[in-house]
Amino acid sequence: LKLYPEVVVLRLGHRVGRDKRISTHVGLVARAFGARAIIYFGEIERSVVESIRNVVSNWGGRFEVYVETNWRKKILELKNNGWRIVHLTMYGINIAERGLIEELRGCEKLAVVVGAEKVPAELYSIADYNVAIGNQPHSEVAALAVFLDRLYGGKELCISFPNYKLKIIPSARGKMVVRHNDEE
Ligand code: SAM
Repeated sequence: LKLYPEVVVLRLGHRVGRDKRISTHVGLVARAFGARAIIYFGEIERSVVESIRNVVSNWGGRFEVYVETNWRKKILELKNNGWRIVHLTMYGINIAERGLIEELRGCEKLAVVVGAEKVPAELYSIADYNVAIGNQPHSEVAALAVFLDRLYGGKELCISFPNYKLKIIPSARGKMVVRHNDEE
């Protein structure tokens, strides 16, 4: 199952210490909900990057984690390479607005930006789309999950992750996990 459009997630404004857990969750949600990579900007703990890479190593998939310094340069570079920039913000156009999700689904490649405390004002004009997941303040983790689920129409929940060491056998009670062996 190949998800379309292709998505990379950009995480801006990480605050060392304070945002460690939530930035890790942004990465895990990006992977689990079908994005192909996350890019963190600025200073970020190694442990954030490593814990996501550990999840990839155990649970599979081809998800990549990058750390970059200059968000503006990276976004402009992505734009030049055909990526459309979607900035998730409570001030944007509600995802429920008629026609918006269809328009986004028609793009080939989306770079989805989420902030931490406050994003630079310039981002609102650099973005091709400023999109709200409802116009109330909540969380980058929730915003990203709902955005990807709307974009992919739920299909992302059924993707299988290749090259896993561990895989869950869905179970009505208890935990059933299998280890990959070469017969599979
Ligand atoms: N108060 C901050 C501001 O004015 O930008 C936002 C802080 S919020 C905790 C962190 C991030 O969550 C935002 O940058 C945005 O990406 C995301 N977010 C929060 N609520 C959202 C909403 N209703 N729609 C879309 N994204 C949202």
